[in-house]
Amino acid sequence: MNMQMLFDDSYFMKKALEEAQQAYGKGEIPVGVVIVAKQQIIARGHNLTELLNDVTAHAEMQAITAAANFLGGKYLIDCTMYVTLEPCQMCAGALYWSQISNLVFAASDPERGYRKMGAKLHPKTKVKNGILEEEASELLKRFFIEKRNLN
Ligand SMILES: [Zn+2]
Repeated sequence: MNMQMLFDDSYFMKKALEEAQQAYGKGEIPVGVVIVAKQQIIARGHNLTELLNDVTAHAEMQAITAAANFLGGKYLIDCTMYVTLEPCQMCAGALYWSQISNLVFAASDPERGYRKMGAKLHPKTKVKNGILEEEASELLKRFFIEKRNLN
């Protein structure tokens, strides 16, 4: 296997799914993110809204801050965000300001996703979706079924 095969979109989305699993383990809605620059993961994050009692503690928001800290600059030019669920309008807004070059998301969120909410990404941001969609959706579904059974 060569490097190009190893470090493809599914490889990094798997890493984002590992983050989502961590959120799941903490009873958080399982959404995970990695941000990649030059084939290297420079930031990771998973949803922590319950733990932090903070509606802004979405995986994407934390990873954007961490990536900017890593790079020492606020713009995420030449970076790619891999996220297991379509970002909400808040995160799309943060991505807009970051001017991130690429966004790749797994599952679509027809109810609360940025597209439904009418939010826009930066015109320079290229978007891809559907990478490991089934795995990401399955984890979310399992979470909400378990949650329903607990109540
Ligand atoms: Zn969000």
